[in-house]
Amino acid sequence: MSTYEVINPATAEAIRTVELADVAAVDDAIERAQRAFEQWRAVAPSDRARLLRRFAAVVDEHIDELAELEVANSGHTISNATWEAGNVRDVLEYSAAAPERLFGRQIPVDGGINITFAEPLGVVGVIVPWNFPMPIAAWGFGPALAAGNTVVLKPAEVTPLTAMRIGELAREAGIPEGVLTILPGKGSVVGERFVTHPGVRKVVFTGSTEVGKRIMAGCADQVKNLTLELGGKNANIVFPDADLSAAAAAAPGGVFDNAGQDCCSRSRLLVHADVFDDFLSELKDAVSGFRCTDPTDPDADMGPLVTAAHRDSVAAYVDGAEVAFQGECPTGPGFWFPPTVITPDDITARDFNEEIFGPVLSVVPFRSESEAVSIANNTEYGLSGSIWTRDLDRAIRVSRSVEAGNLSVNSHSSVRYWTPFGGYKQSGLGRELGPDAVAAFTETKNVFIAVGPAAD
Ligand code: NAP
Ligand code: MG
Repeated sequence: MSTYEVINPATAEAIRTVELADVAAVDDAIERAQRAFEQWRAVAPSDRARLLRRFAAVVDEHIDELAELEVANSGHTISNATWEAGNVRDVLEYSAAAPERLFGRQIPVDGGINITFAEPLGVVGVIVPWNFPMPIAAWGFGPALAAGNTVVLKPAEVTPLTAMRIGELAREAGIPEGVLTILPGKGSVVGERFVTHPGVRKVVFTGSTEVGKRIMAGCADQVKNLTLELGGKNANIVFPDADLSAAAAAAPGGVFDNAGQDCCSRSRLLVHADVFDDFLSELKDAVSGFRCTDPTDPDADMGPLVTAAHRDSVAAYVDGAEVAFQGECPTGPGFWFPPTVITPDDITARDFNEEIFGPVLSVVPFRSESEAVSIANNTEYGLSGSIWTRDLDRAIRVSRSVEAGNLSVNSHSSVRYWTPFGGYKQSGLGRELGPDAVAAFTETKNVFIAVGPAAD
């Protein structure tokens, strides 16, 4: 079995060696998950709900431990990591309300009765990226388990530790063996096997659009059910009638949170030409106040990037670009990159179009509402975005015109466990979270029962 040495991105020190699953181990886990499915689907709905609530409670008892583990593995700030662990608990609690509410329908027909059933799919394979190891894992396994499926889950190779611990906590909470199996390993081995193994009935993939397309093509072979949460290059549009100070103060958090390693990062800032210079000067103050520092510091706004290779990839975008200003960050050890603001010459610049996935913000001016919408939509992506204005008509017009799954007005908030999340265009397929999350893990079965006439 091969191994991976997990590195703390803030210190560049090795913290743990993890064994990576090979194809035989994945096949074995899938077979165990198939056997566990026969048991798990038969657990009474109220008992399945109780087990999920218990799982949520055990996670809640370990929030600090999970958060500290994430800080060490991923370099997330302790305040973010604490929220992320809490999000796992919340998604489990929310999902736990579903087993007793997986309603079918009774549809009026002639000659009998007609009922539909929401049935589980079987084994679900969840593939998780390294940027939000805990929440994205839970968005998959929470609703999947609630619907009666069993789950095999592959964390990103570089950030496996919190998912592995959550797998242990599931067993502690009484979730039966084989119902949730964590399989650290490579995408090319474990992830691909989820796609090719006929025992896996659905793949939930969160990651790059490039890999997502390969997975979609692979799933076609068995017409496998699929949810895709992919990349983003999201626009933050600031109109001249906005509360400009509030917009400038919030902009760094909207893009640099999690060091910009966020599919919802508002990495394209569109500012009306009339207020462009004033806005940039307020933005500069806000960026200088954005604290990039030791992620264990409770006041840190941002930590390091996840790996040295990723830091180098981010740096390559900034090299030679029109850098307006940068914030400060530690020099090392660790994989640091400062908050960076670029003012590209035009909207064809590479930094304005490609998902950099780091603390890099590209700012351009616009002159009309229609131009702002057109720039915002001039991308293959369509995940999120923000609109800053005090004009209610404009807020509604623009939020209906931007082609993206998650928009916010006078805010950068994108994620709530009880509202739907997902992308337009090449940002994805399907939705996670929210009231329909569990339905994505069911098949609808229609049963007609003939009712004969009375014999007497
Ligand atoms: P990635 O390279 O696409 O990898 C994502 C996951 O897929 C990892 O677990 C990876 O394994 C695995 N994988 C790689 N190749 C595979 C293959 N051929 N078959 C099956 N699985 C494979 O993405 P990333 O670099 O980890 O994450 C960053 C990307 O995720 C960004 O584009 C970001 O926008 C996107 N993202 C989207 C959302 C959303 O909800 N829309 C949320 C977060 C992130 P390894 O660990 O071995 O590489
Ligand atoms: Mg990758």
